[in-house]
Amino acid sequence: MGHISDKIRHYNSTIPPEVQLVAVSKFHPAEAIMEAYNAGQRIFGESRTNELVSKASSLPNDIEWHFIGHLQTNKVRQILPYVTLIHSVDSERLLRTIDSESKRIGRKTDILLQLHVAQEDTKFGFSPDEIVSLTASGIFEELKNVTPTGVMGMASNTDDTSRVIEDFKAIKTTFDQLARSPMSSNIRFKTISMGMSGDYIEAINCGSTMVRIGSDIFGERDY
Ligand SMILES: *Cc1c(COP(=O)(O)O)cnc(C)c1O
Repeated sequence: MGHISDKIRHYNSTIPPEVQLVAVSKFHPAEAIMEAYNAGQRIFGESRTNELVSKASSLPNDIEWHFIGHLQTNKVRQILPYVTLIHSVDSERLLRTIDSESKRIGRKTDILLQLHVAQEDTKFGFSPDEIVSLTASGIFEELKNVTPTGVMGMASNTDDTSRVIEDFKAIKTTFDQLARSPMSSNIRFKTISMGMSGDYIEAINCGSTMVRIGSDIFGERDY
């Protein structure tokens, strides 16, 4: 041990202060999370609902849990009491479910709209056009129990840095377009979640405000 806390300190001293670090702890045990916690880290990202619930119910209360994986509508109810931000809203149906389940338990849930710009066609998310028309449709005036606080996206999984940068720029451009209108009256719409272990520097250079780092902090995952 010692490696994880060194990494947390490394990120805190190198990423700009306006960029938040999400430590992606999926598939890693509670002890690894506690080492990061003891180094001051409070935001952790998980991608499986059962794992998030079991970790959140046994680890310190001041941890902010972010859900970053593909979320099925029938799992929303299970995780809602534990999450502070859902990064991966990739369909109108999921958005409506988060709203109605949030209403049911009397809360308002912060969400990010997931954009698909990468070349892989297996990735989830809205296209830039879909996200613009969904947001312009007035849906957020209708859904009172979700607050869109920004966008999330991934770059193509490639060694071609110019393609990665192109993807991040597309995410940033879409965010800017939404922020100008129809989100101009939503002062909380300010998060651009992009950048992982292999590409966070490019993401920050392209305007990321939140990076999601897993393997570089915790080591390789054993799936
Ligand atoms: C696993 C995961 C990450 C972290 O990826 P690393 O390459 O391990 O840093 C970030 N974002 C999402 C959506 C993930 O599923």
